Amino acid sequence: MIIDFHAHFNSGDPAEVKAFVANCEKNNCRAAMSGGLHYGGHDFLPNDQVIDYCNEYKDVLIPLVKLDLWDKPVDLDELHRLVDRGAKGVKCIYPYYEYDHDLYMPLYEECEKLGLPILFHTGNYRPNEEDMRSRRPILKNMNPINLDRPARSFQKLKIVIAHLGTTFWRVQAAEMIKMHDNVYADLAGSGSWMGLSANELAQLLAPWVILCRDNAKHFKKLVFGSDCYVKIPSIQTDGKLHYEQILRKVGADQETRDAVMGGTVASWLGL
Ligand SMILES: [Zn+2]
Repeated sequence: MIIDFHAHFNSGDPAEVKAFVANCEKNNCRAAMSGGLHYGGHDFLPNDQVIDYCNEYKDVLIPLVKLDLWDKPVDLDELHRLVDRGAKGVKCIYPYYEYDHDLYMPLYEECEKLGLPILFHTGNYRPNEEDMRSRRPILKNMNPINLDRPARSFQKLKIVIAHLGTTFWRVQAAEMIKMHDNVYADLAGSGSWMGLSANELAQLLAPWVILCRDNAKHFKKLVFGSDCYVKIPSIQTDGKLHYEQILRKVGADQETRDAVMGGTVASWLGL
């Protein structure tokens, strides 16, 4: 089973959604979709509409929900309401404070209890008009090192570092997935999968001491995520190809390839 764990719901147009789903089917791929508001300069489809579409195309689309991490407690009632409607995971991005702020810990605790994996955006984020209003530190708040506290506090919580830290924090993100059993990463975004060679990735994920050639266990901490959009489904097709090429170049065995391309996420979601 192939699962793209990183896809954006940026259109509510039924024809565009249908075309996106058709492209997923062509890729033999299910997609975990996140929408939500207050992305910093972007608003995507509201969570409820994301869930509606995912329920309509439930063989292909899997709903993640985006909750606001801002300057007050996270609305856990809203989380429960969305989970009752079918949400399978959570997307976090553009927080007011760093991801490891006290205010956000109850959300992580609840996600651990409910078995909801969390996809955290990390690294590069383009400046936008909202930045001028909020005047918040954006990149620093989304440094992968901020995931150390949630990861070690909630060791059954599955955490995915989106974009493997981007070029700002490749090493930090790689070290996080090597150290924490419950932390994974995707290479989403063409800046990531095109900018990162198989050779560099193999070096980042190499064991600290090379005793034998078993860095497969670190490669197994990658999950397929493309960063595609409903309006740009071809990103998923390109992303899938790049993942497969990288895995082939580093000589990953079939078990590792299956885990990365969807097996790991399928086990979290009970699929
Ligand atoms: Zn993304």
